[in-house]
This record gives sequence, C-alpha cells and structure tokens, in this order.
Amino acid sequence: MSLETTRVRLESERGAYVNCASRPEHAFHPDAFKESLRGRTRLGAPGWQEAPTLPELLERDATRLAAASQVLRTERVQEHLVKAKIEALPGGLLKEAYEKAWKLERLTEAEGLELLVNGELMILGTLATRMKERFHPHRKVSFLLDRNINYTNICRIGCDFCAFYRREKDTEGAYTLSSEVIHQKIEETIALGGTGVLMQGGVNPHLKIEYYEDLFRGIKQRFDIHLHALSVIEIEGIARVSRLTLAETLERLKAAGLDSIPGAGAEILVDEIRLDQSPVKRHAHRWIDVMKEAHKAGLPTTATMMFGALEEPRHVLEHIKRIRDAQDETNGFYAFIMWTFQGENTELAKKHPDIVLTSAVEYLKVVAVSRLMMDNIPNIQGSWVTMGPKVGQTSLHFGANDMGSIMIEENVVSAAGTAFQLDRESMKELIRRSGFTPLQRDTYYNILAEFPEATPA
Ligand code: SF4
Repeated sequence: MSLETTRVRLESERGAYVNCASRPEHAFHPDAFKESLRGRTRLGAPGWQEAPTLPELLERDATRLAAASQVLRTERVQEHLVKAKIEALPGGLLKEAYEKAWKLERLTEAEGLELLVNGELMILGTLATRMKERFHPHRKVSFLLDRNINYTNICRIGCDFCAFYRREKDTEGAYTLSSEVIHQKIEETIALGGTGVLMQGGVNPHLKIEYYEDLFRGIKQRFDIHLHALSVIEIEGIARVSRLTLAETLERLKAAGLDSIPGAGAEILVDEIRLDQSPVKRHAHRWIDVMKEAHKAGLPTTATMMFGALEEPRHVLEHIKRIRDAQDETNGFYAFIMWTFQGENTELAKKHPDIVLTSAVEYLKVVAVSRLMMDNIPNIQGSWVTMGPKVGQTSLHFGANDMGSIMIEENVVSAAGTAFQLDRESMKELIRRSGFTPLQRDTYYNILAEFPEATPA
C-alpha cells in the first residue's frame, strides 16, 4: 500500500469517527479533526495529548497504522451491523440476552447459556468487546513474562486429564526440585526480564508446610520477585499432611512470602463432571471455599476453567456463575483464565477416545460469553498456549484483554502434547497486528512498560 493510499484511508476514517457519537472514547473531537486536516492531530478526550503530525506518523510506520486503523474501522462498522441485526430479531430469549448484553446489563445463567448455544459468533465478539471496553477502554493488551516452575511432579491425586504427574513409586521421571535448582531458575527468569514465578506441582504427600515456608522465605530473601504459587488441591494437601486448618495454612504461607494463588484445578466446577474426571479431587464447593478463604486471608487469586472434555454447555455456564457469585462475595479474583483440554498422554483421552478437541469457534464463543457473564472480574485471558498464537490473537476481539504469560518454562500443558512457544518480540507483534498496543504487566496487572512501536531489528 502506498503512503498516499494510506493517508487517504486514514483521513476518511477520521471523518467516520467524528460522527461516531455512540463511542465517544474512540471518536475524534470535531476541533481536533479540523486540526488534523491542518497537519497536527490531537487524539482522545479527556486530557488531550499532543500527537505527532500525520506525515510524521505515516513516515514512522505506515503499514502498522493502516492495519490498526483498519481494525478500528471494521469494529465500528461491525457494531452498527450487530445493533441492526439484534433489533431485527423476533422476540425471545436470544434477543433478550443480546439486548441485555448490548446494554452491559448482568446476564442470568439461562441467558448466558442461550448465547453460548445459539449466539452468532460475530455478534458475540462485538458484544464481548463492548464489555471489555468497559474495563479496558484504551485499546491496549497486556502480557506477562514469568516462569512456570513445576517444583515436583509426584502426586497422590492422579487426575485423568493430567499427563504431568508421576506416582511416588514411579522410579522413572518422578522428581522434586532442590531449592538450589529453583533459585537458579529464578535467577535466569530475572535476567530475562521476568517479574514473577508461577510455582505449581503435584500433591506430594511428603512435603509438609515447613518445606514451603523454607522455600518461600529463601526465595524472598534472595530475589525481588512475585510468588504466584500453589493450587487449591496443593494447599489442601499441605494442610492435611501438616495437620493444620486451612486458615492456619494460608496464614503461614502468606507470612513466608506467598503473594497470590493461581486458580488452577477448578476444571469444571460441577460435581458430575469434576468427580468423573478426577474422583480423588474434592467436590466443586471445596475449590470455591478455599478460594474464598484465601481472599479472606488477603491473598488475591485468579479463577480458571478447563473445558472441552466431558462437559456440556450448561456445565460451562454453571461454572462461570459459581465463580461470579463467589466474586460478588469476596472480590478476590483479579482475572479469569480459561483453556481447553489437551488430550495426548492422558487417561481421560484413553477412556473417552470419542472426545473431540475444542474448535477455535467453540473456544472463541466461550471466551466471549465468559466476558459477558463475568461483569465483576476485570481481566480475561486469551489462551495462546493451548489454542495457538493465532487463535489467542483472535480472542482479543472476543473479550480477552490479556495474552497471559510468555512462559519461560512450561511442563504441564506440554506433557499433554501442546507446545506453542512465543518470545517477547513475537508476542508484541502478535498484539500489534491485532490492532492493539502491547503492554508488559506484572502478576497483578500493573503496567510495567508500553511498546507502541516495533523495536528496530
Ligand atoms: S492435575 Fe494436579 S492434582 Fe491432578 S494429577 Fe496432575 S498434578 Fe496431580
């Protein structure tokens, strides 16, 4: 595309934004528009910011601007089409759910289910984008740089969907990392610009609370790093072998340096599915109870969902609703992260060879409906690790505002046959090409750096 063509395109799109009364945060102020025609552009309101002149912008990166501008224009046109389409629908639950979602009103479980089962993909994407912009109106997408340290793979639970764990008696492949090895991994993480470690492992019956206290204290004494560690089932395991209450366990772990808890192990919070996938895991309400207890102890957490195994759409909605209800009570979940079942090397896939892996369309619909239902959780992550970078990128137009972590090390999903990898520059480019500005964040979603421009090669 020539610079001239790009210029004409940008100018005509500005005209469209001047008239875009429905989305003032994205519109050009008419005065700014006039000024932009004179060569100096001022974007956004409030707090106008001086921006480079149009020729400067064009010279800097015409291709990227054209791509971003094309995404914006497509989204706005799409919004108008979606509104007209919803208005033209005959009455019924689907229309009611669409209309409530358009107005950013809270959806019932039945309405969410209707959207998931009968909603149109592109309509859901547009509606979820509107809800996302309520939390994140700035057209920026974040990512994290951290390391997943799986400190032990010995586990007494043995979930059918897990290809990572080993039994205690397994002589081959069973391990528990020494603190020296863990320190070395953290050192490497910091050297690469990482800001946190995600430490998770199996439910190892030999590791009592003293092991974790020593490990966490040792890490915090040596490194300035965020410790996001231990799933619900591990915390319950530690309490059990240490003969402590849940509250005591959480308090001691926090005092030793635990900063936050990953929401792993939620799978699908419906007993008929959960107990089938992993009979030893406790009932769904236990996961919720431990999370609420953690929030009470001042430990924020994420919430997760693994779907695409044995559940039906109604189970997905029940799961989402349970987390939303818990969040209404505690406000302790700062992100909702969902990924799809990866079957390779798992017992579940052997027992149920008829399981069909989740398609991109199904995944994107679940992301969109989650964003619409979760009106009380600020962040929704797209899963490029299980769905691949392109689908992860697409999820940014279906309600996701974050691309999760560029994991320096990952063992659990890769054990189940998925090994998508991205470096920092590829992640930034993936986000830019989707029409957003990349941000590096920390585990709590505080912004550490913004990358509006491509780094020169
Ligand atoms: S998912 Fe976690 S609890 Fe289940 S078997 Fe694997 S390591 Fe153990």
